[in-house]
Amino acid sequence: MYVHRIEFRCSAEQLLGRTAEFADELLGALQQNGLVCEAECSPVYLEGGSYVAIVLAPEQMSFAPELHSERVTKILGEGAALGITVTFTAVAEDSSCAQTCACHSPSGYVLFTNFLSVAPPVRCLDCFLPVPLYRFPVRPAGDFHDVICWQSDYRSCDRLQMNCTVLEKATTRQMSDVGSTLSKVGRENCSVLESLSGKPFYYYLYRANGRSVKSEMARCCPSCGQPWYLETALHSLFHYKCDQCRLLSNFAWNLSP
Ligand SMILES: [Zn+2]
Ligand SMILES: [Zn+2]
Repeated sequence: MYVHRIEFRCSAEQLLGRTAEFADELLGALQQNGLVCEAECSPVYLEGGSYVAIVLAPEQMSFAPELHSERVTKILGEGAALGITVTFTAVAEDSSCAQTCACHSPSGYVLFTNFLSVAPPVRCLDCFLPVPLYRFPVRPAGDFHDVICWQSDYRSCDRLQMNCTVLEKATTRQMSDVGSTLSKVGRENCSVLESLSGKPFYYYLYRANGRSVKSEMARCCPSCGQPWYLETALHSLFHYKCDQCRLLSNFAWNLSP
């Protein structure tokens, strides 16, 4: 992950208000494009005659023009027609979450996030590092709205279950049950991304509690009912993998050594 500075400079002082609106619109479009993470939390401030936004993007080269979606290109064009120029400057690596996947050709992916993560919600199945969304062939609209909405819903559920006060059971169920709305939407996203990438795309089912180590080891895939336990956990996290249903899960946290 990389910190970037985006400067919005307008040619005339009377356009300052319009420039602020333009900055909001462009940041929203960049987020849908997978180029900016957490756009709504990015500080925007006035510096001299320009607006400046400090944003987090997956990589140093995330704002290369060839990565822009049709919508981002269109908005930039409208800004230019108004006399608003936009400058992207890479500042520094983010110290808490620096790396993204550098594998030449990952063998597969998993849709994965948690309440602490601001990285893109896709991980490489080989190195388990985040994969920028713009590495996937884009849909006709050129954005990742559905994936970003799922990420926001998942992180909200994870935060509530971690806080253990409000809706703990309901949110844990959303993250654990293969039939929950969150899981259904997540698996639909996996299926679209699998057809776009041509690579297996897995969905992770959170597992909080099990009854005993023996019963936990014997549990079967909740979708097809077949055995899916792995003797050696994948990335020290996934003890269960069903290739047919494209599902992954962890050994119940309450029974983990
Ligand atoms: Zn990788
Ligand atoms: Zn299965």
